[in-house]
Amino acid sequence: MGTLRRPRAPILRFLGGAGTVSGSRFLLETRVARVLIDCGLFQGLKNLRLRNWERFPVAPETIDAVVLTHAHLDHCGYLPALFKQGFRGRVLCTPGTLELCKVILADSAFIQERDAEFANKHGYSKHEPALPLYGQEHAAGVLELFETALHHQPRAIASGIEIEFHYAGHILGSSIVSVELDNAADGRKNTRLAFSGDLGRPDHPLLRPPDPPPDADILVIESTYGNRRHEDDAVIDLFAESISRTIGNGGTVLIPAFAVDRTEVILRLLEQLVRAGRIPEAPIYVDSPMALAALKSYREAIQEGWEEIRPELHGKEQPFSAGQLIEVRDVEESKQLTVSSEPAIVISASGMATGGRVLHHLAARLPDARNCVILAGYQAAGTRGRHLLDGARTLKLLGRYVPVRAKITNLTALSVHADRDELVAWAGSATRKPDISFVVHGEPEASEALREALETELGFPAVVPKQQERIRFD
Ligand SMILES: [Zn+2]
Repeated sequence: MGTLRRPRAPILRFLGGAGTVSGSRFLLETRVARVLIDCGLFQGLKNLRLRNWERFPVAPETIDAVVLTHAHLDHCGYLPALFKQGFRGRVLCTPGTLELCKVILADSAFIQERDAEFANKHGYSKHEPALPLYGQEHAAGVLELFETALHHQPRAIASGIEIEFHYAGHILGSSIVSVELDNAADGRKNTRLAFSGDLGRPDHPLLRPPDPPPDADILVIESTYGNRRHEDDAVIDLFAESISRTIGNGGTVLIPAFAVDRTEVILRLLEQLVRAGRIPEAPIYVDSPMALAALKSYREAIQEGWEEIRPELHGKEQPFSAGQLIEVRDVEESKQLTVSSEPAIVISASGMATGGRVLHHLAARLPDARNCVILAGYQAAGTRGRHLLDGARTLKLLGRYVPVRAKITNLTALSVHADRDELVAWAGSATRKPDISFVVHGEPEASEALREALETELGFPAVVPKQQERIRFD
């Protein structure tokens, strides 16, 4: 290890998730330790994805620990790349996050390898040969560095640094992270930071509501929906209507879903709608190996009655038994499903149609006006999901252009992210005002709207940090 240039005062560096919703990476540096909060992959437009290939700004072997707020790829997906570049520190997360990371990181490595192989076969890479960002061995290697801590159990993770996980109510295992820096050596009081991670909503159908913000001098808050209000009733009505009409017309409802959590939320909602007689019973296919693996983790957490699961679900044997739930595992079954003419609901990943089996379903279903595609989650700029939302008449899929005649239903407000009012209410429930709030994890308009709301409605001094910006606090 070379000589380290250590800062005299603690520094917070925004290495990602600033001015964008992906690539969350916040580096805390003290005189004696380096800790990274989240280690996310940049996703979306090409100029963002290219950032994944840039050299990490500090030598990865000098990082003592990585703390994960949750298992979504934009928060953990860069970990294998960090491992590949020499990181061998500790990775701290909750048991739920570990279970989901096993699924998500292995899948991500598989996609990286497959895309590189595809590029080589078809000769469209500028690199000769195209290389994956990381491989299976790096995902497996970094998983060996994981250690779990339960929510509400403080843990010392590096010299002078203690963390604690709090419920975030976003996906299984998700956490708000509080960090305490011990400043006794400088004769100053300790510095407390709180990172919201992705903040869930009070009414997640499976998870307990988020805890209030931990006591903090510095608050780092997400702003994915910092300029939006969710209209829940209207959203559910639209969901039920789209399904009833499509099934009634003999069509197929295709729901590109984020494999983790979104599938569970949708299945729960479908069950409630079927039971209320608001949608007809139809076969429901879950066609994504990753979604099925995550579903298994959720089922276990529910049956074992984990604390973060809503108490009324504890021990429930069939929490997702909506109508006729069919788990599609192998590729042959998946192919048959794309040519089936039986009215059905098909849930398949990925959620923004950037890859995965959903591409084959889209290619098969988009040209037919009887079908419907329900976009039920955030669609980042530049993704196929966003193009559909924006009214694209043709879509490039699997090397071909496919006409879009199916109905596109915008259900992006069906969200497990707090909306503007929920974010402000959450921040406002803090026991004291932070000295400063940093608004991250949002497209620029969303972050700016939340920043303004925090200032005007709560009197919180708030700023939107820039990518690579560093803040010193002493
Ligand atoms: Zn998330």
